[in-house]
Order: sequence, then structure tokens, then C-alpha cells
Amino acid sequence: MIRVENLHKHFGGFHAVDGASLDIAKGSITGLIGPNGAGKSTLFNVIAGVHKPTSGRVTMAGEDITGLKPHELFHKGLLRTFQIAHEFPTMTVRENLMMVPSGQSGETLWNAWFGRGRIAEEEAALLKKADEVLDFLTISHLKDERAGNLSGGQKKLLELGRTMMVEAKIVFLDEVGAGVNRTLLNTIGDAIVRLNKERGYTFCVIEHDMDFIGRLCDPVIVMAEGKVLAEGSPATIMQNEAVIEAYLGR
Ligand code: ADP
Ligand code: MG
Repeated sequence: MIRVENLHKHFGGFHAVDGASLDIAKGSITGLIGPNGAGKSTLFNVIAGVHKPTSGRVTMAGEDITGLKPHELFHKGLLRTFQIAHEFPTMTVRENLMMVPSGQSGETLWNAWFGRGRIAEEEAALLKKADEVLDFLTISHLKDERAGNLSGGQKKLLELGRTMMVEAKIVFLDEVGAGVNRTLLNTIGDAIVRLNKERGYTFCVIEHDMDFIGRLCDPVIVMAEGKVLAEGSPATIMQNEAVIEAYLGR
């Protein structure tokens, strides 16, 4: 589904991504791991259009998507979440879900409120969808809570929920488990597996929790110093000498 070929992203003289090549297979939940500073988030940012690559190529189902803007990728079904959640803190959870642009009109509810008019039917459909998403994620009880009051893990669930408001094909999740308690991490994991199995979402997941990666992801891609170091099943990755070396110091 996604092919990254010899990708470089340099910040001045620093090579954050230094010739990374990898494939993300359609229908997979691909894990991306590696020590801090390995270039994982930068790689996501380049794929998702936040940064322009210094060189290299990204294709989606064979189509060159290198350097496209986030909103252009969004319309192709490529979405990413951030390491730090990007919720609208003073809006409710349900309103946050409804802020996602609809596939049809490309407008947000914001526009509707301020007079540029989303038709009532579309708004009702959006509301219904938001409630379905909340139900799917088992957070219906939080629908009227201000998003700013959610725990870190609940915000991550909300981010996942926002990807469900549109017809996503591939979702990039950056440190979905960071600062999340075990129970909520399991809920997030279950939601990812269900979205993968029931809705055909492909995922690429950056996560440090190896238990989470081991249960969810196959294959797992390991990055270190801007390059892909290894790829394989979680079991083979954990026994790979180069991987152990990268984690335990050089
Ligand atoms: P990871 O997500 O694997 O921990 P990052 O992709 O966030 O790693 O960062 C890789 C390296 O690139 C780090 O050394 C980081 O300091 C550097 N880096 C990331 N973004 C920028 C930027 N905008 N400007 C300069 N350096 C950056
Ligand atoms: Mg990161």
C-alpha cells in the first residue's frame, strides 16, 4: 500500500532520515520501533506531508504521493495521529469528532455554524456517525465531556476516533501508548485490531511498549539512526543481534 524508497530528511547537516526504504503491506498492522531519535516521527511526518523530503520517493498503491500536502493525503485516505494529541480542548468529545472534514463537502461543522452552510441532513448524518464511533470505542459516556479534561489515553482514543469519521485507508499512529495505562492501552489495541479486521484499515504504529507491538504488529520494522535496521515478525526481531545492539547502546 505504501512504499518508501531511499528517503532522506535532513535538518541542516543532520540526517534525521538517512536513506530509509520500506513497504507497508495493505491490510497489515505494521509496527515501527527504534531508539529515541531514530527518525521514526520524522519518517511519519514526511510520509504524511508535514515535511518535504530532502530526497527519495513515497508511493501509495503505485501512485507517487511524495511531497503532497496533509489535506491532499487526507482525501486519499492517508491519516496520521501525533505523538502529542491534537484535540480541541474546549469542545466536547462528540464535537471534536464532528470537526473532521466530511468526505463529500470538504467542510467542517465550523463552517456550518458560521453560516457557510452544511445542510441539515449531512449534519444529522455526521452526528449519527460520531455516536457510532463513540460506541465502537466504548467511550459513549464521555461524549459531552470537554476534550481537554480527558486523560492522555482517552485523548489517544479520540484521535483514533477521528480517523473513523472519514473513509481512511491507512492510518499512522505515533506513540499511541505513551502515558497510557494498561487497561486503556488494551482498549486502544482492541480498537486497532477491529478497525483492521472489520473495516480493512491498514496501520503503521510507532510504539515503545514491546508487549503491545508483539501482540498487534506483524511485521515489525526497526529503525536506527535514520535507516531501516531490520524487519520481521516480532519474535525474530527480538532475537536480532543488530536490534539488540541498537537498543542497548553502541
Ligand atoms: P524518533 O521519533 O525516532 O524518536 P525523531 O524523528 O523525532 O525521532 O527525531 C530524529 C532526530 O531528528 C532527532 O535527533 C531530532 O532531534 C531531529 N529532529 C526532528 N525534527 C527536527 C526538526 N524539525 N529540526 C531539527 N532536528 C529535528
Ligand atoms: Mg517520535
